[in-house]
Amino acid sequence: MITVFSGGTGTPKLLQGIMEITDPENITVIVNTLENDYFSGIYVAADLDTVMYTLSGMINQTTWYGIEGDTFITHDTLNGIGCPEVLRIGDKDRGIKIQKTLLMNKYPLSKAVNIQKERLGIRSEILPMSNQNSEITIQTTLGDMDFHQFLVEEKGAPQVVGLHYESAEPAPGVLEAIENSEMVLIGPSNPITSIGPIISGNGVIKALKNAYVVAVSPIIGDQPVSGPAAKFMGAMGYEVSCLGVAKIYQDFLDKFIIDDIDAHYKDKIEKLITEVVVTQTKMNNLLDKVKLARIIFG
Ligand code: GDP
Repeated sequence: MITVFSGGTGTPKLLQGIMEITDPENITVIVNTLENDYFSGIYVAADLDTVMYTLSGMINQTTWYGIEGDTFITHDTLNGIGCPEVLRIGDKDRGIKIQKTLLMNKYPLSKAVNIQKERLGIRSEILPMSNQNSEITIQTTLGDMDFHQFLVEEKGAPQVVGLHYESAEPAPGVLEAIENSEMVLIGPSNPITSIGPIISGNGVIKALKNAYVVAVSPIIGDQPVSGPAAKFMGAMGYEVSCLGVAKIYQDFLDKFIIDDIDAHYKDKIEKLITEVVVTQTKMNNLLDKVKLARIIFG
């Protein structure tokens, strides 16, 4: 079995490649839940839904959230009657989120996700990192903000000086998945706000130290491919480079995959991590994703 740690953009891209070369039943995906919250009366688990939609072939691959070809009649209606939504939620996507919200009246998040992924015909395991809610405070020069305020309302523009979140108790099955895996793959996701919260779970680092752990750098050159990782890494005192990512993961990482354009970092990273592989990590199409997956699976 392979366990994959995922956020909501880079790792789902890679999962598309992994699904082409391996039996989906061998894969468990542990997904960040840090930014989960209620919007317009429904529970939004953005990264979990992105992973579910990716594995069921429904994902909108332009935005990496929501469902391909969705309509926005409810969203537009709400805006038109003076009930503006912070998030632009599509109609089909909203239906699935309503179902999750209703399931969560009876069950913990992990059970709700399990029911949904079965109904969507997904054969891989999908586990939320935690069934507990956890909030993040992003400290900016304009004041403290939560994630959606920072990213959606302020469009990620404010200067970030720090951030804080409480670690959450791992959901049932998370530690067991890590312990029973031939390989744990930390996908190319935001190391601070997507992977960091998974790793901070009680007992996760200890389990990782006993596992064979491979990671793909989400930083290529001195920038992430998308999203606010650079601002968050900088605010936490890390250099924005694959070397900075290596320093975050060095205590438990066995193999680190960095991009061709970062080959000059190889010697420095080899002082921290046993094996460093240099290859193309930018995934522009399905072939790139499959090639990267093949390198990971060795
Ligand atoms: P957020 O968007 O920063 O909140 O975080 P996510 O965990 O959803 O993932 C975004 C991360 O995926 C960014 O740090 C990107 O650099 C990374 N990413 C996206 N596409 C690619 C890609 O094609 N290759 C690599 N190596 N990383 C990618």
